Amino acid sequence: TKFSDLNLDPKVLKAIEDAGYESPTPIQAGAIPPALLGQDVLGIAQTGTGKTASFTLPMITLLGKGRARARMPRSLVLCPTRELAAQVAENFDTYTKYHTKLTKALLIGGVSFKEQDRLIDKGVDVLIATPGRLLDHVERGKLLLTGVQVMVVDEADRMLDMGFIPDIERIFSLTPFTRQTLFFSATMAPEIERITNTFLSNPARIEV
Ligand code: AMP
Repeated sequence: TKFSDLNLDPKVLKAIEDAGYESPTPIQAGAIPPALLGQDVLGIAQTGTGKTASFTLPMITLLGKGRARARMPRSLVLCPTRELAAQVAENFDTYTKYHTKLTKALLIGGVSFKEQDRLIDKGVDVLIATPGRLLDHVERGKLLLTGVQVMVVDEADRMLDMGFIPDIERIFSLTPFTRQTLFFSATMAPEIERITNTFLSNPARIEV
């Protein structure tokens, strides 16, 4: 498979080319086509497989047009740690090089609410967050998840290890039933299997 066969936005293809990527990794070749068709995806892949691009590239393509409203992000990426969330945000920066109007915000703990509030108020296309800080903003009445069209759960197995599964279930329940879900885990523990059975709808399952 070549990137140019994947139906990605031409501006995304250009950014990938600038990044020096030659061909999609197996998780990318498997996850990008169903994601672009609007299907739910269950990706079973470790870090280092290129899993981040397997959800960021289709998301940018799907969100390409349209505008976010104040306090209602159009998409959401949940990460277990601040470090991982920051890495995902960096990936978005790389791949949105030519999508200059796409707005992003990183909601992680340990930094003040003020700047995060300001970004949310302006409207965000892509919100990248850790579960605790995201729910803090929801509880403060500053953030609504009812406009989320695409939701990603990254490294679900680490979410489980860190005790975040109740938060994840709560966040799922705050998003529209009609959202598209892209769900990634390195392993499929019974608790993870249960969550995917509850919240994913007929997902394309890609295991690498
Ligand atoms: P990840 O598994 O998402 O953490 O990605 C691991 C590393 O692989 C990152 O440094 C990416 O920039 C890089 N990468 C992702 N996809 C590709 C690709 N198709 N070709 C070359 N490098 C890639």
